[in-house]
Amino acid sequence: MTSTNDIRSAFLDYFASHGHQVLPSASLVPQNDPTLLFTNAGMVPFKNIFTGQEVRPYQRATTAQKVVRAGGKHNDLDNVGYTARHHTFFEMMGNFSFGDYFKPEAIEFAWNLLTKNFALPQEKLLVTVYSEDEEAAALWRKIAGLSDDRILRIPTADNFWRMGDTGPCGPCSEIFYDHGPEVAGGPPGSPDEDGDRFVEIWNLVFMQFLEEGGGNRQALPRPSIDTGMGLERFAAVMQGKRDNYDTDTLRALIEASASLLGQPADGPFKTSHRVVADHLRSTAFLIADGVLPSREGRGYVLRRIMRRAMRHLHMMGARQPVFYKLLPALIEQMGTAYPELARHQALIAETMRGEEERFAALLSRGMALLDEEMERLASGAALPGPVAFKLYDTFGFPLDLTQDVLRERGHEVDVPGFEAAMAEQRQRARAAWSGSGDTAVETHWFDARDRHGATEFVGYVSEETEAEV
Ligand code: ATP
Ligand code: MG
Ligand code: MG
Ligand code: MG
Repeated sequence: MTSTNDIRSAFLDYFASHGHQVLPSASLVPQNDPTLLFTNAGMVPFKNIFTGQEVRPYQRATTAQKVVRAGGKHNDLDNVGYTARHHTFFEMMGNFSFGDYFKPEAIEFAWNLLTKNFALPQEKLLVTVYSEDEEAAALWRKIAGLSDDRILRIPTADNFWRMGDTGPCGPCSEIFYDHGPEVAGGPPGSPDEDGDRFVEIWNLVFMQFLEEGGGNRQALPRPSIDTGMGLERFAAVMQGKRDNYDTDTLRALIEASASLLGQPADGPFKTSHRVVADHLRSTAFLIADGVLPSREGRGYVLRRIMRRAMRHLHMMGARQPVFYKLLPALIEQMGTAYPELARHQALIAETMRGEEERFAALLSRGMALLDEEMERLASGAALPGPVAFKLYDTFGFPLDLTQDVLRERGHEVDVPGFEAAMAEQRQRARAAWSGSGDTAVETHWFDARDRHGATEFVGYVSEETEAEV
């Protein structure tokens, strides 16, 4: 079996042998983009090169980039535990051309790596192209010898990438692996495409235009390439698994969780072990990159991830801090590729344990309250907003944690009711505050807070109203 660590090296070696500079992963905290919550794709550290603001001494690069998709534009948090192919933390392998090679080479590199170096059977692969990109379709026919029925034309934004409202943009081509008819799901573009049968393993972006705003689009004189391949999805294919969570790295973490909790990996808590394994990775890697659990912004996303993991651990019987005890298993799997884990081991472990200690008593009490409330719910009824707000405000339950618990039992949360309860509390805070005299300062402060709370970046669930716990 080819290990995930070997696949990562083989990918980088392949592109190095084709003239690409191998670069280390950038931080999960974007260094050049304050609007972005986390590095969520391999191209993020290269944005300024693609826009021409920055020039590097090389025109080709390859990376294994740490990414987190747990907020903002890409949020896969709610997929974790439910699909075979989504994580909050994963590694995106990529090759990049900064105004150097373009479509023919990008397609040829990808196809040769998959079918020659990794020897994947061609008949298990299919590709999508943007419906207007005849050039890409022709190249797939010519270079890969794919017949037209294996080149699917997609008219939606899924196959047209943009950096933002303005800036570089262009069509994409996605490479899919067919795990076979025993797995549920239809081909890309079909109504049941959201299954785990046809799994997107690699996305090639052809940056060929510059969007100037106001509908003006120009052809770039020197188009660029950005690609992203999900290492865990690819490892599943290479290891003969249909599920990312059955690959070597994730399976080792699931087994560590199983033995720590004394609950079999594939028993009744199968989903919980998967969630714990995933959240362990995002937690440890975020802390290693300097994010600490807090009440707003990035820190609040981290706190939400950690508390969701703790809730699953609690469900499996944990009453003492245990999450941090899984860290050595992660370091054993990924510590060589990512030395920052071992370098910051003490800080990561302490931060995890501290957060567990802070949340433990509230979690037990909050779960007792929530269990009681759920008993009372009629089948399919929504949990009243004020209850969700009490859990949030008094027990430190992020809204998405409460939603996750309810989803398991076929219920939802009355989100507008939750928001109303939150707004009411803000009003009360504002009323209680006024009267101290300095209205200009107060108005400014509350306005700033309301504005701040309204942006996607921070999100209403990260408001300062959360109980200090
Ligand atoms: P999907 O449609 O499956 O959600 P995507 O189109 O959102 O994937 P891209 O933004 O194209 O994903 O990212 C490049 C590659 O990263 C994908 O082709 C896939 O292999 C991988 N990938 C994307 N999201 C995840 C995730 N949440 N967990 C693991 N791998 C992922
Ligand atoms: Mg996605
Ligand atoms: Mg996709
Ligand atoms: Mg994609």
